[in-house]
Amino acid sequence: PSTEVSGETYIIGTDTTFAPFEYREDGELTGIDMDLVRDIAASQGFTVEIQSLGFDAALQALQSNQVDGVIAGMSITDERELIFDFSDPYFDSGVQMAVAEANTEITAYADLAGETVVAKRGSEGETFANSIKDEYGFTVKALADSATMYDDVKAGNSVAVFDDYPVLAYGINQNNGLKSVTEKEQGSSYGFAVNKGQNPELLAAFNAGLAELEASGAYQDILDTYLDAPA
Ligand code: GLN
Repeated sequence: PSTEVSGETYIIGTDTTFAPFEYREDGELTGIDMDLVRDIAASQGFTVEIQSLGFDAALQALQSNQVDGVIAGMSITDERELIFDFSDPYFDSGVQMAVAEANTEITAYADLAGETVVAKRGSEGETFANSIKDEYGFTVKALADSATMYDDVKAGNSVAVFDDYPVLAYGINQNNGLKSVTEKEQGSSYGFAVNKGQNPELLAAFNAGLAELEASGAYQDILDTYLDAPA
C-alpha cells in the first residue's frame, strides 16, 4: 500500500445508470467500476466517497475540483487528456447504435435520414453521432443518462441511441426492449481520471491497485461477475 494516500478520503464522481459499470441494485451503487474503485481503495489504504452525479456532471465536477476523481466508463480520449490525467486503461470499449426491438425500418446509418437519435451529453456516443449526422442527415438530441435515452427510443421520441456497446449489450441481454442492428465502432479504453495535475498520488495508487487486481485475477473475477451474469 502507498503511504501517500493512506488514511485519505477521496470523493469520486460517477454516472447514474450505466450498467454493468455503475447502477443501483436495492438502492446500493454497484457494478464493475464500483467494485474496482472500492477494491483498489481497500488495497491501497484509502477511503472513497462515491457520488452518483451523472456523466457530464461528474466531468464538470472534476474540472472544478468538486470531486477528486471520476470513474464512469470514461473513455481515454485525446481531447480529454488535455484537461484530465488518466490511469492505465482498464476496459476496451466503443460506441454502438441500438433501436427499439420492434423497429424494422432502421438497419443502417443510412436509414436515419430525417430522423432524431439520442446520445449522452458529453459522451463519446454523442461525439460519434455528431461526426456522422451531416453525412446521413439526422439530428442528435443530447440527454443526461442512459436509462432516459433508452426510454426515449422505446417511447418513439427518437429512433436510435448511440451508447457504449458493453452497456447496450448488457441491457439488451436483460430484455430492455432494444436491439442492435449495426456493428460497434472502434472506440477508446476506459480509464479513471483526475483533474490535470491534481491528486497525482491518487492516480498512482489507482494504477498500483489496478495492477495488483489484474495480477491476482481479482479484476477478471469482477468482470466475470457482471458480464457473465445470466439475464
Ligand atoms: N465511454 C463513454 C465516454 O467516455 C461514455 C461514458 C458514459 O456514458 N458513462 O464518453
